[in-house]
Amino acid sequence: MSGFVLEGNSPTETIHTQVVVIGAGISGLTLALRLQQGLQQGSRSVLLAEAGNRVGGCISSQSKEGYCWEEGPNSFTPAPALLNLIAEVGLADQLVLADGKLPRYVYWEGELLPVPMSPSAALGSPLLSVGGKLRALRGLLGFVAPPPGREETVRQFFRRQLGSEVVERLIVPFTSGVFAGDVDQLSATAAFPRVAGLEERYGSLFAGALQARRSQPEPPLSPLIQPPPKRGQLGNLRQGLKQLPEAIAQQLGDVLRLRWQATHLKQDGGKYWVQFETPEGSRWVTAERVVLTVPAYVAAALLQELNPQASRLLAEIPYPPVAVVTLAYPEEVLPQPLRGFGHLIPRSQGYRTLGTLWASCLFPGRAPKGYHCFLSFIGGATDAAYARERGVPPLLALSPEERAQLVHEELSQILLTCPGEPIRLGERLWPQAIPQYTLGHRQRMAQLQESLAQQTPGLSVCANYLDGVALGDCVRRAEAMAQEILKSGHG
Ligand SMILES: Cc1cc2nc3c(=O)[nH]c(=O)nc-3n(C[C@H](O)[C@H](O)[C@H](O)COP(=O)(O)OP(=O)(O)OC[C@H]3O[C@@H](n4cnc5c(N)ncnc54)[C@H](O)[C@@H]3O)c2cc1C
Repeated sequence: MSGFVLEGNSPTETIHTQVVVIGAGISGLTLALRLQQGLQQGSRSVLLAEAGNRVGGCISSQSKEGYCWEEGPNSFTPAPALLNLIAEVGLADQLVLADGKLPRYVYWEGELLPVPMSPSAALGSPLLSVGGKLRALRGLLGFVAPPPGREETVRQFFRRQLGSEVVERLIVPFTSGVFAGDVDQLSATAAFPRVAGLEERYGSLFAGALQARRSQPEPPLSPLIQPPPKRGQLGNLRQGLKQLPEAIAQQLGDVLRLRWQATHLKQDGGKYWVQFETPEGSRWVTAERVVLTVPAYVAAALLQELNPQASRLLAEIPYPPVAVVTLAYPEEVLPQPLRGFGHLIPRSQGYRTLGTLWASCLFPGRAPKGYHCFLSFIGGATDAAYARERGVPPLLALSPEERAQLVHEELSQILLTCPGEPIRLGERLWPQAIPQYTLGHRQRMAQLQESLAQQTPGLSVCANYLDGVALGDCVRRAEAMAQEILKSGHG
């Protein structure tokens, strides 16, 4: 039951609805589902419009010839809100969890070295020198300079806390792994709010980590999730992450409109008017509330006339390109047995690949017997400088073949035990991949929210550029926004 009201019978007439959600990635889908559930009790209605011909946005799972791989997000931290959503849409039995104890590697000076996952492992780790370990310990216990009065970059914060060695060997690659980001541009409090907040609240990272673990109340987990995930495990679904958006779309029914691209937004007569390009031509929808879950650069274009200040703030968020190259190899050319999460490569090591996930070691059914499948990431916020310094073409100028060849050559040096030809499964370029939370981000987002509330009340944003890019953050934020709309009575 969607509750749309059509003026007349013609498909070109205006549609009236209470809430329009624009963009059917995980944010828009979760929001529309919760609104549909909440609004069904009343006479209100919701419409979810997606420009593409499929749901899921960044989530893009592929399969062929016994392989299954991801071109966008490749796993999730199993937070209760996300797991409960999975259970609710009938996918509890599809959940697969990677062994939390699988080693993660950093490629340092010609060797794959395991990342220490506990303080005791860190003491024995060959990844850090004795001096580096002592320096990190000093910071963990809180014997570091107090935070300066200004906002710190990720490099500045972690160098002050844990020393330069930890930054170069662990923080730089980790930042590439999460944001495809640059430690010299990202804001520590915006990109890693939980870690940065530990010092503020508890005085030291170590004391903070212990306290925070004790004091974090988690919402109850659905009894359908059996067994409940353990700490450190990562999740996916048997046939890939796309199962989740597809299952939500099933529940949404005619609330969802595919190939409906929002092109224009205006305010008139106390309502919002949204114009869509659809397969049937141009359509107008009026609504009391509009929620944009599209990327910031799309939202910026839509808001240009209606709210120029918000548009400008959104346009300032950088989205560097990232390419995901998926290659498979027979077991004979790989270390035996191959066991691990994957490897990250610090920028100082001179490789162009940011990191590689050993996908078939993580989840079942990712490669046929006797083969392994690897997802490698190139690009990100540091890639333009890499290309400039070495006089090589930027990522966007490389052909898919060149990107695959580059990844294969680097994997041959880092992982393969003898020369081998890759099976090229897929090559996906995201020209604008992940929003970067650069210095000043939190302040800009606060200004954005204020501008929206004052200049265009009833028009909201709910997307991964606000306060967390992970899938679990998108679900958390969308559920909170649905509650706010339902409570406000404007929906
Ligand atoms: C390469 C990559 C790897 C990642 N890895 C991980 C990971 O391993 N784990 C993790 O948790 N997160 C990961 N992320 C982040 C996570 O995938 C995203 O933050 C999340 O999927 C964003 O969802 P969203 O719904 O907010 O936005 P999107 O997925 O961007 O959805 C926005 C939707 O809006 C639609 N749209 C755009 N313009 C219009 C318009 N004018 N009208 C209507 N619709 C429009 C788009 O087609 C799209 O479907 C990764 C992201 C990328 C790109």
